[in-house]
Amino acid sequence: MSDDTAHPHAPQEHPARSNSRPATPSPGTPGSHCVVLGASIGGLFAARVLSDTFDRVTLIDRDELPETDENRRGVPQGRHAHAILPAGTQWLQEMFPGLLEDFEASGVPVVRQPTEMHFAPGGHLLSQEGRYADPIPTYQPNRPQLECQVRDRLRGLPNLEIFDQCEATGLLSTSDGRHVKGVRVVHRVSGAERELAADLVVDATGRGGRTTRWLADLGYEQPREDRIAVDIKYVSRNLRVAPGSLGRRKVVIVGACPGRPTGATFLQHGEDHWMLTLIGYAGHHPPIDPSGFLDFAKAIVPPDVFEALCAAEPMDDPVAHRYPASVRRRYERLEPFPDGLLVFGDALCSFNPVYGQGMSAAALQAGALKEALAQGTDQLPRRFFKTAARRIEVAWQMAVGSDLALPEVAGPRPLPVRITNAYFGRLMSAAERDSALTQEFVKVSSLLSPPTILLRPATIGRVVLGNLRRRGRVEARQQM
Ligand SMILES: Cc1cc2nc3c(=O)[nH]c(=O)nc-3n(C[C@H](O)[C@H](O)[C@H](O)COP(=O)(O)OP(=O)(O)OC[C@H]3O[C@@H](n4cnc5c(N)ncnc54)[C@H](O)[C@@H]3O)c2cc1C
Repeated sequence: MSDDTAHPHAPQEHPARSNSRPATPSPGTPGSHCVVLGASIGGLFAARVLSDTFDRVTLIDRDELPETDENRRGVPQGRHAHAILPAGTQWLQEMFPGLLEDFEASGVPVVRQPTEMHFAPGGHLLSQEGRYADPIPTYQPNRPQLECQVRDRLRGLPNLEIFDQCEATGLLSTSDGRHVKGVRVVHRVSGAERELAADLVVDATGRGGRTTRWLADLGYEQPREDRIAVDIKYVSRNLRVAPGSLGRRKVVIVGACPGRPTGATFLQHGEDHWMLTLIGYAGHHPPIDPSGFLDFAKAIVPPDVFEALCAAEPMDDPVAHRYPASVRRRYERLEPFPDGLLVFGDALCSFNPVYGQGMSAAALQAGALKEALAQGTDQLPRRFFKTAARRIEVAWQMAVGSDLALPEVAGPRPLPVRITNAYFGRLMSAAERDSALTQEFVKVSSLLSPPTILLRPATIGRVVLGNLRRRGRVEARQQM
């Protein structure tokens, strides 16, 4: 660390205790300092953006951060299938040049062509025909690998320091609570408490999000929460699968559908290393015992995949994770809100994990942060929250809409949701035999293109035609 005053292990006086409006230094101002709470994907992405504009960035996490790609306590979801969508990949490419090439060189599987992907959302196996002229690559590192590689790159930045085993326990503020001036941290081993002065504090402590409680302590209201109870359970296991037993496929995703609120993600991570994650909504939960786990998979995955599962060699025991509800905290609507504080990543919006959006949504928020910082720090929280809300809106609506397509998920279904779901159902039906339509759908679900591309007249035409042909085939079969 460059000086004692900000070192979490070094005692320091906290300078700001006045009521007057402190001049928030512009990010480029010499000495400007930002503290990011939480060094998981959200905190790492935020810190990367902040390191371009703040003089110093300090990233703290309560976990001991491993040197290698190991799982850790603060990220229990890392033991389950984690796909980074192409929208997230694009951002990684921009902010960490060379990272994706390094992944591929080290043997991380990359999906480029339809034959490499078995993608069956909502009960429709999308077309695996053809070859894409402009493929959208999907990289498949496992979660600890991705986090470790990003963290290593941040460790190389001269103005960024990472302190682990430091737990944030509260905010420092001016006495009127209008300006956050730093954070109180406790070292988890020594128990020493320190105050870290900062011009900006970013809360990326995950879906538990400490800010809601801290705001109450400062006398602010709570943000409104949008919540959709999905009652999901994940059970996952690493497997050794004989190379070639799944043909060209590198990923198998079978989504839930009405009447079967269960799904599976089977991801290749290395030549013979695969991770199987089984998912169940609303009490239809996968068992954790090995034989029950396998039985549960049988009703979801295609027969040849099930055969490969039966022949696979387990690398560990199944592990479980409960996910009760998607939660979006509407900080963009919370007025007033203190200066010098942002909320980021899952602490801002925790997405139903089955759609694989969380890390890519953190990347979209990082883009919003970059945009907001380009206009200085004046009213930064308000501008950041508004831009971030806009950028994650589509992902949130798509996830909520897909959840509400399942009768097993409780919640109001206004007319626009019912119309959209009816259209998406027909689109996926048509995409079963239409590789161009499949690619458009994948671009939207990858958060690369807006859903409006699926409403272009040519696309609607393909959907109508595809469904007419499908009906024709069904009628012909019935007459046989
Ligand atoms: C089962 C499951 C599967 C998922 N699958 C996918 C997927 O396929 N694709 C995808 O994109 N996303 C997926 N996600 C979501 C993804 O994991 C998150 O969106 C992502 O980790 C970003 O979260 P975050 O950094 O905001 O929070 P988290 O990952 O929850 O990290 C919070 C960090 O804050 C630290 N911390 C907490 N409290 C404190 C404190 N007081 N002081 C200091 N540090 C603290 C923790 O140690 C941790 O490091 C999944 C989530 C779950 C639950």
